[in-house]
Amino acid sequence: MQAAVAAMAAHAVLAYPTFSHALLSPLPNLGSPPPLVSAFRGVSLRPTPTPLALSAVAPKPLAVVAAATKKAVAVLKGTSSVEGVVTLAQEDDGPTTVNVRVTGLTPGPHGFHLHEYGDTTNGCISTGAHFNPNNMTHGAPEDKVRHAGDLGNIVANADGVAEATIVDTQIPLSGPNAVVGRAFVVHELEDDLGKGGHELSLSTGNAGGRLACGVVGLTLL
Ligand SMILES: [Zn+2]
Repeated sequence: MQAAVAAMAAHAVLAYPTFSHALLSPLPNLGSPPPLVSAFRGVSLRPTPTPLALSAVAPKPLAVVAAATKKAVAVLKGTSSVEGVVTLAQEDDGPTTVNVRVTGLTPGPHGFHLHEYGDTTNGCISTGAHFNPNNMTHGAPEDKVRHAGDLGNIVANADGVAEATIVDTQIPLSGPNAVVGRAFVVHELEDDLGKGGHELSLSTGNAGGRLACGVVGLTLL
């Protein structure tokens, strides 16, 4: 053991001078003034950040142009076989074009609304009531008195497929009444558009249960 320790000590002694030489040899270079002076000159060239700042400003107009067209999507799912995809597109502050395709429905009309919350923690129930920022009663999409989220009915064919294109001014993709983060719901029954005389006609159109729903999210243009 002692021999081994002595051998290690000898290695350490041998290695140490070598290491010291290595440390010593760069020191004169570090200590020589010219590299330090050139380094300080580099830092003192302050015009360099200014072109960077200008180039950072340049993309902003491009971002504003891109924001003029907005597009969003909602994927509808539920506890049944009903499912679908809804896409939304809006140019500037114009109307929003909504393309709907839902499958697995019973043939005939089904209420189709934009609900207040994009919260599906308790399924479609937790999406709340129809989106209603102006505190109106339920109506048809073409009525002046309606919920913003009242998009009427979609009609399923004999195969249970409903396809529709809806153009509406009350469901923008930006601004204070933006629908991004809220949810589409497709209902079990026909929406009576507020005219059915049922106690629920002026709140839900008596459209029955919620078959499928999906949260509206921004997507690629
Ligand atoms: Zn409504």
